[in-house]
Amino acid sequence: MSDRKLRIVPIGGLGEFGMNSMALRYGDDIIVIDAGMMFPDSELLGVDIVTPDFSYLEQHAGMVRGLVLTHGHEDHIGGVPFLLSQLNIPVYGTEFTLALVERRLDEHEMLEQTKLHVVKAGSRIKLGCFEIEFIRVTHSIVSSVALAITTPLGVVIHTGDFKVDPTPTDNEVFDLHTFAEYGKRGVLLLLSDSTNVDRPGYTESERAVRPRLEELFTRSERRLIISCFSSSIHRLQQILDLAAESQRKVAFLGRSMLNVTEIAHNLGLLSIPDSILVRPQDIMQMAPDKIAVVVSGTQGEPMSALSRVAVDNHKHLSLQKGDTVALSSRIIPGNEKGIYRMMNHIARRGANLVYGSMSPPIHVSGHGSEEELKLVMNLVRPRYFVPIHGEYRQLSRHAKLAQHLRFAGLQDTFVLETGETLEIDSAGARRGEKVAVGRVCIDSGSLDDVVEDIIIRDRRHLSEDGFVLPIIAINKHSGKSEGLPEIVSRGFVGGDGSAILVEARSVVARTLETSTSEERGDWGVMQEKIRQDLKRFLNKQTQRRPLIIPVILEV
Ligand SMILES: [Zn+2]
Ligand SMILES: [Zn+2]
Repeated sequence: MSDRKLRIVPIGGLGEFGMNSMALRYGDDIIVIDAGMMFPDSELLGVDIVTPDFSYLEQHAGMVRGLVLTHGHEDHIGGVPFLLSQLNIPVYGTEFTLALVERRLDEHEMLEQTKLHVVKAGSRIKLGCFEIEFIRVTHSIVSSVALAITTPLGVVIHTGDFKVDPTPTDNEVFDLHTFAEYGKRGVLLLLSDSTNVDRPGYTESERAVRPRLEELFTRSERRLIISCFSSSIHRLQQILDLAAESQRKVAFLGRSMLNVTEIAHNLGLLSIPDSILVRPQDIMQMAPDKIAVVVSGTQGEPMSALSRVAVDNHKHLSLQKGDTVALSSRIIPGNEKGIYRMMNHIARRGANLVYGSMSPPIHVSGHGSEEELKLVMNLVRPRYFVPIHGEYRQLSRHAKLAQHLRFAGLQDTFVLETGETLEIDSAGARRGEKVAVGRVCIDSGSLDDVVEDIIIRDRRHLSEDGFVLPIIAINKHSGKSEGLPEIVSRGFVGGDGSAILVEARSVVARTLETSTSEERGDWGVMQEKIRQDLKRFLNKQTQRRPLIIPVILEV
């Protein structure tokens, strides 16, 4: 082991949005920090999720000591099942983070063979030559930690995602002291979240949404529907408290909302006032001014609960004139189209739509603004600085911010993109050789397709399973489909005209028939519905997963 270098290897999330993952290597020891995913944009129609290409880790499989998770957001844990299917390494994270990972692993029937280790903020573990201390930070999801990683060359601090929230709803405050202590003793390298570097000042506390939510509860005369991320426990707690105060019952709607609130409740992270919950099927029986519905699907995902409600195709909730729908969330870049489409549908139903920036806010960011980023840099005072989690413009701005601060001891900053490595040894830090990275498109089945054992790389996918194009002609004037849908395929079993594809045509026809006229008028929704139904059918009949790309023609 003559190699006395520390290598920082960004596997995803630097210079791109989402799918965060980073490897640290010293000698023959590698640790992995986070394994995230991103949702595909419209150019990647036909796949469900996108994860980093983990081949660097596969190539060094014998050296990888473990996966350490900072928090439970999808852009940090969504790729875990995929990584673990290639490398069965132990996983470390806080209880809530691991509970969310467990849920994912369970869907892929991978839970049994996985070694999950719960850690607490303040505790330490040893992985190879690395000693890792977990430090509590505040973020939009509870139980988030930063990592102080002691390496043979010095300490590396990885912030994870954070903001410095002085009043989190769970009263678990940011552990600034530990950051400062490490800073005092000397930190080799700081890796810090860049998401909100272009926002001046401080990000508001999670509690800042309370006045706006309170107003919604007092002013809404009919049903109140609030949508937020199911993992936003801070937000959910405030909604539950306000509902109790205003004598409204609460129903959770959407699979992830039901699952995650149950997990959080079981772990004591979400307190649910006595007998406040009602079942989704009872929503429409309640007096409209006595019920609040908390629903998942803020990003306009076509199959989500809120999207179904928007097109009046949800079996438990039908929007009526005068209902209020509040989106307590932001638009994740790339999702604009789907979200606006969903909002248009909601507005068409006559509901009052509350969204966007306003004061007091209906949503606050989970990421620290400029002053918080400066605060952390000033406390940690690293010798080297590498901004993480952001697109290039954010990383470069964050690096400039560090240079302007000129805190004692800063020798250099490096803007790295995914695949560009940094090498540190006793002589200093410099750019290292590039490693192979990329994106892997996974057709995993949505949350609704339970236990589909996944993971097909797109190319293999195409060469083995082919692709299927259902072509639907819709009459411009009547909104009805013209004749039976056509299906064109390449490389798929049987080929065109085979019995299976003839049957597939009626599957598509059935999807069209069972959709509401509003859904039929929305091609984005129809494409996704057809894709999901056809995928389920073809997979069941043939055990294959061709790439399915629905084409809708207006005639
Ligand atoms: Zn993130
Ligand atoms: Zn996050």
